[in-house]
Amino acid sequence: MALPRRYPLIFNPRARSQKGGRTRQFLMAHANRFALYATNTGQEAVDLAKKFADDGEPVVIAAGGDGTLNAVVSGLAGSRTALGIMPAGTMNVFARELGIPANSLPKALEVIEKGLIREVDLFSANGAPFVQMAGVGFDAMVIEETTWESKKMLGPLAYLLAAVKVLGEKPPKMEITTAEGRTETGVAVLCGNGSLYGGQFKLFHKANNLDSKLDVIVFKEAGYRLVLDSLRGIALGGINLSASTSYFQSECFTVKADREVPVEIDGELLGRFNQIAFCETSSRLRVLAPEEPCGTPFVDSVKALLQWPPKPYEQQATTAP
Ligand SMILES: [Mg+2]
Repeated sequence: MALPRRYPLIFNPRARSQKGGRTRQFLMAHANRFALYATNTGQEAVDLAKKFADDGEPVVIAAGGDGTLNAVVSGLAGSRTALGIMPAGTMNVFARELGIPANSLPKALEVIEKGLIREVDLFSANGAPFVQMAGVGFDAMVIEETTWESKKMLGPLAYLLAAVKVLGEKPPKMEITTAEGRTETGVAVLCGNGSLYGGQFKLFHKANNLDSKLDVIVFKEAGYRLVLDSLRGIALGGINLSASTSYFQSECFTVKADREVPVEIDGELLGRFNQIAFCETSSRLRVLAPEEPCGTPFVDSVKALLQWPPKPYEQQATTAP
């Protein structure tokens, strides 16, 4: 009798969220399908994933939130090993981008078992690989300020509260230089490989994770204008190109700041730097994902509300792209 295949699965047993508890229950209930590897530190997760990749494992699963995912991605970078994702964090942005069910572990496992591999560009910030997004300044400061306790109590709202605090501080000055010869100045930078940012928000509306380019948003000023523009952009399903931001695409760019500023990659704090280089890594990431990304229900429902009352059928038909 052929034994069912066991996937090496990397998880953080100390994940303290409610989802962490449900994830452990699910893993135990399906323990015959996985070779479970609990890790105590992010570095341990990186090293384990790298070892599996070096051993030629076809698939390695990351079960957890953005931290676990980013660690496993780092370990698999440059290899042919495909990443499987069991989303169990607060945001699960990359999983959502790919259409992997973010709220159902059984369905996420179905995606893995289907075995369909997609490739996505893999970029790095000062040499650290990331697959979905990165931020310099403002949003990384917000992540720095957001405590685990507030995240558990408030979910994504915790970030908004931390944002209010960060907005009261004097913003850094940054100069952005691209390989394409563009120069910009601003107070904060976000870049996206995929289109989604911070959960379900389609911030990088032109992003394509197969075009070898990052979509970059430079915030020109910090303050309520930035918050208003960002909220409007989020509600409309893409950031509004107003005077307070500039949006461009670049293969490679550098951010220089007038002081050390925090940097986040895939929602995890990378550290503080006054110079950050963003470049594509030498290979794409292979990841198990559905053929078509599914819609993002939250954004779709906000869009639907903004378009209320619905247009008559004929008008819709003539204005459709
Ligand atoms: Mg791209």
